[in-house]
Amino acid sequence: MYIIFLGAPGAGKGTQASDVAQELNLIHIASGDLFRQALEQGTELGIKAESYMERGVLVPDQITIGMVLERISAPDCEGGAILDGFPRNLEQAEALDKALAQQSKAIDKVVYIEVSEEELLKRLSGRWICRQCQTPYHITNSPPKVWGKCDKCGGELYQRPDDTVENIRKRLEVYSVETAPLIDYYARVDKLLEIDGEGGVDEVGGRIIAALHGERL
Ligand code: ADP
Ligand code: ZN
Repeated sequence: MYIIFLGAPGAGKGTQASDVAQELNLIHIASGDLFRQALEQGTELGIKAESYMERGVLVPDQITIGMVLERISAPDCEGGAILDGFPRNLEQAEALDKALAQQSKAIDKVVYIEVSEEELLKRLSGRWICRQCQTPYHITNSPPKVWGKCDKCGGELYQRPDDTVENIRKRLEVYSVETAPLIDYYARVDKLLEIDGEGGVDEVGGRIIAALHGERL
């Protein structure tokens, strides 16, 4: 089973994708996490991606597509995966369809999480992330039990350098120009599940699971 999580930055893709992956026993692949890990390890790919990420623009397809397709074709993804943050434009979506088709596979469903722009800005500016396991927290909506420490693994929490007001605006603009057309792309092939992303983490998670079960995947 291959599921894409689609939505603006701050829509809750990462949180929900991680929970749903656990529930359905699928591998969670987050393109942004792959880039940040590469950067932390100082690889060439990480260094190349950094200049784009810090400006809030998309990393070029040549770099991104290869990285994600390589990850998704690893043996642990044989049974399926949840893609979070990829595809982010039509070229990426088409490359993904083609690569899966070559292995006689296909995307089953696309979970589109909808959140108002006002709420997105609030969420992104209060976001703290675990340096070790990437779990996101929010200073008011979902604070950690101990300030500065991850509930799950005890790792250090930090604010992403690209979560600045200016950068957030840029990412929302890039989303509406480059990524939002994918809503239509997947609706046309009847794969889109529209989910109301406002409300608590568990509430939204419940909606996603119910929608996926309704599809009897
Ligand atoms: P957010 O969804 O909050 O913007 P991500 O962690 O998904 O956060 O992405 C952070 C940055 O990583 C993006 O602004 C972009 O520069 C880069 N990136 C992530 N995924 C992709 C992708 N599929 N294509 C191009 N760039 C990407
Ligand atoms: Zn952690």
